[in-house]
This record gives sequence, structure tokens and C-alpha cells, in this order.
Amino acid sequence: MINSTVILGSTGSIGRQSAAVCERLGIRVPALAANRSVELLLKQVETFKPEYVSAADPEANRQLREALSGRDITVGPPGEEGLRIAAAWPGADCVVTAVSGAIGLRPTLDAIKTGRRIALANKETLVCAGGIVMRAARERGAEIVPVDSEHSAIFQCLTGRSGELKKILLTGSGGPFRGWTREQTATVTPEQAVKHPNWSMGAKISVDSATMMNKGLEFIEAMHLFGVSPEDIEVLVHPESVVHSAVELVDGTVIAQLGVPDMGLPIQYALTYPERRPSASGRLDLTSLAGLTFMRPDFEKMPCLALAMDCARRGGNAPAVMSAANEAAVGAFLAGKLGYNEIYESVAWVLGRIGFIAEPSLEEIIASDGEARTLFKERYS
Ligand code: MG
Repeated sequence: MINSTVILGSTGSIGRQSAAVCERLGIRVPALAANRSVELLLKQVETFKPEYVSAADPEANRQLREALSGRDITVGPPGEEGLRIAAAWPGADCVVTAVSGAIGLRPTLDAIKTGRRIALANKETLVCAGGIVMRAARERGAEIVPVDSEHSAIFQCLTGRSGELKKILLTGSGGPFRGWTREQTATVTPEQAVKHPNWSMGAKISVDSATMMNKGLEFIEAMHLFGVSPEDIEVLVHPESVVHSAVELVDGTVIAQLGVPDMGLPIQYALTYPERRPSASGRLDLTSLAGLTFMRPDFEKMPCLALAMDCARRGGNAPAVMSAANEAAVGAFLAGKLGYNEIYESVAWVLGRIGFIAEPSLEEIIASDGEARTLFKERYS
């Protein structure tokens, strides 16, 4: 188990739950970074007494600086720089990367350079630059322990095994609009899309779960984390969200990880690994379940999943372009500027207009990401 951790994105859904686990287990938090929730960030400062804190939003950063003036704490700069300093802050065993989107990429690489554990909750980082990130982690001896519930499940099923994996069974609930037709989803509002039936999550990932883009991003995340090809991963729709994912081993045995849908569990495991500690989570009562169902995805009704799996097979800069366009599209949808069905349409439109790079460098990935966002903005706002 780790003794101390930095939390990036400490006021978001995963960040708040990570802070709660740290408080309960007595894990020290020497550095915190958030975007704009100054009030909550100040409460976290009182709880953890960190040496460093930053807010990415310029106005929030100004307020934070004012509130903490005269105190013995370093207030970092706004923007990505503040996150990067937090990620590499000395004296931590781990960094929880709980920011949303590609902004997590460089801070994650900075944290990897220090050789500390990454409790990875920022899937976009692996989607954009999985090859580069995993190589850097191997070179520096930095452990990457997934926080995403499906990947935590796979990680738990594979712990202690090597060379025995045949296939990953990646489960997903199908989101709130499972089975809906294109006509039915045309009028979906942001309020409807952020209400997930089983999981309580941030706005961006909730919309991604509704469109099933989240499962597509997780597909790519799993390829990198576990070093497997697209053919080695099968997506299963599992509406009850009890089996968090499973693995099929070479002899045909299937091992699954089950539990109540509570992100507190995978967060805690990423911090206590390889140990387990008692948790504050509810318990799974198998007798209370009416049944567990599993279906193959209907790609016609889940075009974002099909698109992401296609990008996974293409590789290169395609996942980075797709993820950036999706971030822009989800942002526009949440702001009421884009229809629900247009999320898929706009991402596919952007993807078709950006040049393919088979083996992109980090700079080329970041450039492709920027190009995708610019193109989206020009066309859709
Ligand atoms: Mg997940």
C-alpha cells in the first residue's frame, strides 16, 4: 500500500472519492490540483494540509491565491503547468490522475518520470498516447494501476498470472438509452444523458457512457494497459453492472470480478494494491440479484462504439483525433449547442478530415488533438 499520493482533478467525481479514501486510510496528500471548484479545494486544503495546490482556471487560481495568501503553502500557476508541477511534486508514492480529457497527458508523463505509481483514472491519456505512456512507464519502472472499474476488474483477474490470458471480456451496461433507435435519441437532452442508471459519475463520462463512446475509449485503454490486440477483446453489454469485467484464460476458464457499482472500490484498490483493506463500500448480495444478462452489442445502435473500435484497429493518431473531437462534441452537447446524434456525426466528420499518421510522436499526437478541436469549432460553432 502507498503512504502518500498527489491527486490531479481533486474536486471532480473521482477526485472527491479518492480524497475520501485517502482520508479514511490515512494516506498523506502533499499536492492537490483542480480546475475551478475553489470552495471545495480550500476544504481539501484544510483536511490534508498539502504543500502544494493549484487551480487550472485563471479566475479560480486568482481566488485560490488570495484565500491562501500568507499561508505556508505553494499555490501553483493556472493551466496545464499547475497540473504538471503537482504531478511531479516530490515526496509522493503515487499520483491519482482524475482529470478529464487529453489535458491529463503531459502531467501523467511527468509523474511517470518520477517512477511513482500512477492510479490511472484519466482514460484519454492512454487512448491518445498509450504506446508512448506504457513505454515510458516500463522504462522508469512506474506501475500503472487502473482506476476505471472495468480495467481494475481485468487487472484484479490477471494479478499473479502471466501468459495465461486468451481474451478480455469487457462489460458495459449499455447506458440509459440502450435499445433506443436513432429517431428516439434525436431529442435526448444533456439532463437525460448525464443520468446513468447504475453509476454516479462526472458529466463528460456520463455522456460518453450514454453514447457508448466510453466503452470504445475503454476498449483502446485495455489494449494498451494489458498489451493485447483488438481481436483479443470482446465487448459484452451487461445491464446490471455487477460483473465489472472478466478474462478468459488459455484453458477456457473464465474469471470475473463482481461487486456493487461503487467507484470507491477500484479507487481504493489502486491505492492499496497489492494489499486489500476493509472498505466503506456496500456489499454485494448475490441472492438479491434477479439475474445477470449478457448480450453482444448492437453496433447499428451504438455507432460511437463501432467508430472507436475501428480507430483502435487503425491505430496511429486515429484514437487521439477521435478522442479530441469527442471531447469537443460532448462539451458542445452539454452546452446545448449540439444535438445528441450529432456527437457521433461530428466525431466521424472530423476523423475523416485529418491526415493519418501511423507512428506519431508525442508532439504529433498533441498537434492532431489540437487540429481536431479547431476543425470541430470551425464547423460546429
Ligand atoms: Mg469504466
